[in-house]
Amino acid sequence: MQIFNTPIEYLKGVGPQRAEVLKKEIGVFTYQDLLHYYPFRYIDKTRYYKINEIGFDFPLVQILVRLKSFEVIGEKQSKRLVARVVDETGELELVWFKGLKWIEKTLKINHLYVVFGKPTFFNGKPQMAHPEMELFSKESKERGNLSLQPVYSSTEKLKQFSLDSKGIQKLMSNLLDTVFSEIEEVLPSYILEKYKLLSRRDALLQIHFPTNSTVLSRAQATLKFEELFFIQLKLLKIKHLRTLKFKGNVFATVGNKFNYFYENLLPFQLTGAQKRVLKEIRFDSQKGIQMNRLVQGDVGSGKTVVALMSMLLAIDNGFQACMMAPTEILATQHYASIKSMLPDDFVNIALLTGSTKKKDRKKILEDLVIGTLNILVGTHALIEETVVFKHLGLAVIDEQHRFGVEQRAKLWKKNLIPPHVLVMTATPIPRTLAMSLYGDLDVSVINELPAGRKPIQTIHLYENQRLRMFGYMRREIAKGRQVYVVYPLIQESAKLDLKNLQDGIEVLSREFPLPQYKISIVHGQLKPDEKEFEMQRFIKGQTQIMVATTVIEVGVNVPNASVMIIENAERFGLSQLHQLRGRVGRGSEQSFCILMSKDKLSKEGKVRLETMVKTNDGFEISEVDLQLRGPGDIEGTQQSGILDLKLADLTQDQNILHEARKTVLEIMEADPELQNAEHQILGNFFHKHNTGITLDKIS
Ligand code: ADP
Ligand code: MG
Repeated sequence: MQIFNTPIEYLKGVGPQRAEVLKKEIGVFTYQDLLHYYPFRYIDKTRYYKINEIGFDFPLVQILVRLKSFEVIGEKQSKRLVARVVDETGELELVWFKGLKWIEKTLKINHLYVVFGKPTFFNGKPQMAHPEMELFSKESKERGNLSLQPVYSSTEKLKQFSLDSKGIQKLMSNLLDTVFSEIEEVLPSYILEKYKLLSRRDALLQIHFPTNSTVLSRAQATLKFEELFFIQLKLLKIKHLRTLKFKGNVFATVGNKFNYFYENLLPFQLTGAQKRVLKEIRFDSQKGIQMNRLVQGDVGSGKTVVALMSMLLAIDNGFQACMMAPTEILATQHYASIKSMLPDDFVNIALLTGSTKKKDRKKILEDLVIGTLNILVGTHALIEETVVFKHLGLAVIDEQHRFGVEQRAKLWKKNLIPPHVLVMTATPIPRTLAMSLYGDLDVSVINELPAGRKPIQTIHLYENQRLRMFGYMRREIAKGRQVYVVYPLIQESAKLDLKNLQDGIEVLSREFPLPQYKISIVHGQLKPDEKEFEMQRFIKGQTQIMVATTVIEVGVNVPNASVMIIENAERFGLSQLHQLRGRVGRGSEQSFCILMSKDKLSKEGKVRLETMVKTNDGFEISEVDLQLRGPGDIEGTQQSGILDLKLADLTQDQNILHEARKTVLEIMEADPELQNAEHQILGNFFHKHNTGITLDKIS
């Protein structure tokens, strides 16, 4: 195994200079790094295509043709070299916009050429721009019959050192000559057999030098499986170690507070899903193991009350609880809504944020240490060093995407026995992502909305239909309901933002004049207390219209609001749109979401708005989002490591991920220490590559 750690400069054909560039440009430091530097695509040079075979939207193809004529046409910018080539089935145009002189010189009429490129259609006829082209020769004939040619991504700098795709391929060939016989199997043979995977050795050889496309697919599947398998193994190993290391607080009883709340204070019937999740939490918190549970529930599914009842459970068992939210507005709102559900002396509850006054803060911290404070609601302020609980039993984290994993860990460190952790997210994430991002957590899903809710009606209007929008507003306000109007936040230009907003407000105040109508305005330039003041006016129903930039995105709860208008809706991402829409439809009356957009939409923008009109289901929306954007742009993925995936793709390879996870779950069930004979090699390999994962490092 040692050989794989050999510095890359010792590989035949590398040397110190190239080694430097390989390190700098593509992070290849060792033999192993290079071995896992996979081609990003393959060129099919296994055959020559016929011109009449070329269809619409074809990939790169290779054709064998005779050059009939060529000429330079057009003026200045549109000047181009056009060549006519034929085979026995038809005719094709080759076009160059650059390097005309040089290419023109090399072309020979009536000679046979091997032409390679991406065909497009122009005016109904096939065409190829800037193809690769060489005179047909014996050599090219042989090469043409060769195989799938790997293409490695290279950089300008690498190319200066002759390390273009071909150059890298040459190194790969040297590398495989050197290490091939040393490549060892790591997956147990029964797994290889079950999924018909290639041996690791063959998979690595085939991915770099495929014999044919069938074997290539198997090689890719094998390496993808391996990649996802080890991520899952790591996550589930962490989970296993955590259960070994940490005792958990035992919430043995369902006590007075919980029962009293349930029987006398709860203003509605819990949904089946809420009950189920509460049961899961109760079960988890009795086991003497630290609970780490993610509760996924669509906007409006009623996560807050689940959090509250879990906190009451903690209190009944002699513990404190805290609830952390990503913004001050949200924390404040949680605090208010929890207080409103509980009589004054029921539990001691306080709010701690960045703007808590010094004197109040001091009192809160004291009560916290003595233990007289039962529930602390707040923002990031909760994880500061000075905040010390007497015995924190449960930490609820709302909308956790905005809290890093490390911040979560900080909360856990506040106690000898770490508190149970309940992470609540209203941004549904596709299952595949959840498995990879939160694979070490248990997941509960609140997949049911409270009874009697009418699904929100979503309407997409263009600028010239603005009168209809005013119509909706007027009608709903006349019924005593309230309206949100949301403007996008342009990160780059706070000024432009404000301008946009102000223009909008001007129009709105003309349509909805005082004194009949009142408007609240909230945007990023306001100070927290100004924001709070405006929010409160709306929450209390003193204003009918709330104009805002996206600060109201998460969590804000005004059940009387029935219209959500989103301006420039095409500028928002899907999950944001869904979050915003979730601000209405919280009561029993019909609510509306109106997406205003400009007339011309990008293809993607159109899909987003159509998806919103079509469905209210957050999970469905998140799947579309993943398809459109890939995992990289989905919140929370950045710090997770899943973006370092070399081969697997979370959108394409869901199936493989499921199987890999299932396999790991079975292994962890049967042999968590990986000590059985059939898992020994796997265990050695895993522990060697994950030296960081030991009991004392787990948090
Ligand atoms: P979210 O899951 O988006 O955080 P909330 O907890 O804010 O949702 O709940 C949304 C609204 O639904 C609140 O007004 C809450 O009081 C109400 N609610 C929650 N659960 C139920 C239920 N079982 N029946 C009726 N209304 C409910
Ligand atoms: Mg919420």
